[in-house]
Amino acid sequence: MDKSSINEDVDPVYPIAERMLGDHKANVEDIVKYEEMWESSINTPDIFFGDLARELLSWTKPFERVQQGSFHEGDIAWFLEGELNACYNCVDRYALETPDKIAIIHEGDEPENVRKITYGELLQEVCRLSNVLKSMDVHKGDKVIIYMPMIPEAVVAMLACARIGAVHSVVFAGFSSDSLRDRIEDCGAHVVLTSDEGRRGGKNIATKLIVDEAIKGTTTTTSTVRHVLVYRRTGSDVPWTENRDLWWHDEMAKARPYCPLTTMSSEDPLFLLYTSGSTGTPKGIVHTTAGYLIGAASTVKYVFDYQPGDIHACMADIGWITGHTYIVYGPLALGATTVLFESTPTYPDPSRFWKMVEKHKVTQFYTAPTAIRALRRLGDKWLEGIDLSSLRVIGSVGEPINPEAWEWYNAQIGKGECAVVDTYWQTETGSIIISPLPGVTPTKPGSATLPFFGIKPVILDPQTGAELEGNDVTGVLAISQPWPSMARTVYNNHHRYLETYLNPYKGFYFTGDGASRDKDGYIWIRGRVDDVINVSGHRLSTSEIESALIHHESVAEAAVVGGHDDLTGQCIHAFTTLKPNVEISEGLEKELSLQVRKVIGPFATPKRIYVVSDLPKTRSGKIMRRILRKIVNKEHDDLGDISTLADPSVVDTLIFKVLGPD
Ligand code: ATP
Ligand code: MG
Repeated sequence: MDKSSINEDVDPVYPIAERMLGDHKANVEDIVKYEEMWESSINTPDIFFGDLARELLSWTKPFERVQQGSFHEGDIAWFLEGELNACYNCVDRYALETPDKIAIIHEGDEPENVRKITYGELLQEVCRLSNVLKSMDVHKGDKVIIYMPMIPEAVVAMLACARIGAVHSVVFAGFSSDSLRDRIEDCGAHVVLTSDEGRRGGKNIATKLIVDEAIKGTTTTTSTVRHVLVYRRTGSDVPWTENRDLWWHDEMAKARPYCPLTTMSSEDPLFLLYTSGSTGTPKGIVHTTAGYLIGAASTVKYVFDYQPGDIHACMADIGWITGHTYIVYGPLALGATTVLFESTPTYPDPSRFWKMVEKHKVTQFYTAPTAIRALRRLGDKWLEGIDLSSLRVIGSVGEPINPEAWEWYNAQIGKGECAVVDTYWQTETGSIIISPLPGVTPTKPGSATLPFFGIKPVILDPQTGAELEGNDVTGVLAISQPWPSMARTVYNNHHRYLETYLNPYKGFYFTGDGASRDKDGYIWIRGRVDDVINVSGHRLSTSEIESALIHHESVAEAAVVGGHDDLTGQCIHAFTTLKPNVEISEGLEKELSLQVRKVIGPFATPKRIYVVSDLPKTRSGKIMRRILRKIVNKEHDDLGDISTLADPSVVDTLIFKVLGPD
């Protein structure tokens, strides 16, 4: 990309962040080097990824072929004939080299509860747990459910599975017993790892009780679960089923501190993980060992510009792909120090994140737009007197980040000196696929910018599937060639994999998201294709209208959906929440309406604007627009799968707000 071609009149462009300059030597020198590397990753992937795989991973048997398979057949494979173990790559090799280096900093729910675990200690814990799993008759290829709070033992659990070739499926420990049961049944796990309780935001969470409910509640079949291993987190009394339930500390005390590594082929599954369920029933996404690890390690190296000594802090939960890749596998594969955060952004008060950054001298900080918007809404006083100068790269993931929220993150957290990386990716992609590189890519607030190595994004016409060439185009986002960390299948349902990702546009991987490529070749994610609104033939993206609304000083968050309209086909319904201490004033709705007209145009004027106290969100904090769409279209009797909704009670409040009392 030619830097001089950026038109700064249209979108503000931020040059290279100050903290990436001076003495700092970034992992990619500059945009020219990036382009060169990207070209070779696309044109000669066998050489590019062959070299990368030898550089970043340790193999017990070298691979012979770099890749095989196609989108047409849905049979993608990477690093064939190669053998390696993910746990060895993330733990053993660093435990041998630098046993005293801190692998995990655990910031407990109470800020004063900090635990640090070295690579040497991590290896012992992982080995013991691997032996415990073996004693429970877990073998290579068996599925193990991990339903645990954000404590180091959860990471130990994932790595212990990887060590013996068991396939873990982490379920976010905020899901209900029904959701947990669905996932246990879907994968047929024999073993569940949990804790007596969890602690989050000062409250206890009854994890063990929920596991019990999930296991006993199977009416049609008997549960596959033979053992539940329980870590004592809070010490509360929990119901106990003799022989089935085992205490973690009892079993660990009996286990030997070394466990040999199980050899895995590159394409052996490492884990399966269910998607967030923003659009429908969650899919059990399967990731394999070598390709996934390469994606995880290389993106930590390049997208977060990892340098030895860095403290990498990803605030996601390990129940989501972001936690898998950017708390556990990516940082540990590079021998980094990773922060595991048990609490919430506002406990005990909204300065929590920032005090943690100061305390541990965090260098990379990664969170979601939902948290950024929430903290922006609560005001800047929570940042006063806190030293954030250790930060170098700050990232965002999960939803389009509205330019207004981006600007706040950049100015208030990055102090205008950090690289802001808006990283676009999915559970299915395994690792980041579109993002700026720190020290390399000039950024535009709201754009995920340019593709990562090996990713060739294309914009397709949604109707014809034709590729829209050149710049200044809008359509659906697809990827035109396989990359190492992409999902290989949906567990037990390859048909669904093909139908969802590979068959909609033959020869491409379909993301399900709408996107534009601007005149500089930058990618802007416009939201999910299902969420696109068509008003009198204008195709409008939800994210654009929402960003216009957030621009207004009173608005904290916004969600926009299409309602049926006899005249225009669809019309716009906008839901907004306000900042604290902002009262609904008389002319507010009118002002908001004008705001959209001004920023986008009269055709985007919302037909209705609802000021509400809360929006429906998934447990990972994403806005579930399909629920709002059903409500405005009076289809609320048929809301579909709402098991992934964080707070189901918002639904009734919204129905009342939109449709009134019956
Ligand atoms: P489901 O597939 O079950 O509906 P989900 O798509 O929310 O759930 P995830 O894999 O967690 O599950 O989320 C991936 C999606 O999140 C992307 O397809 C995209 O819509 C959105 N997303 C993630 N990062 C970004 C980003 N930086 N900018 C815009 N959108 C993003
Ligand atoms: Mg999805």
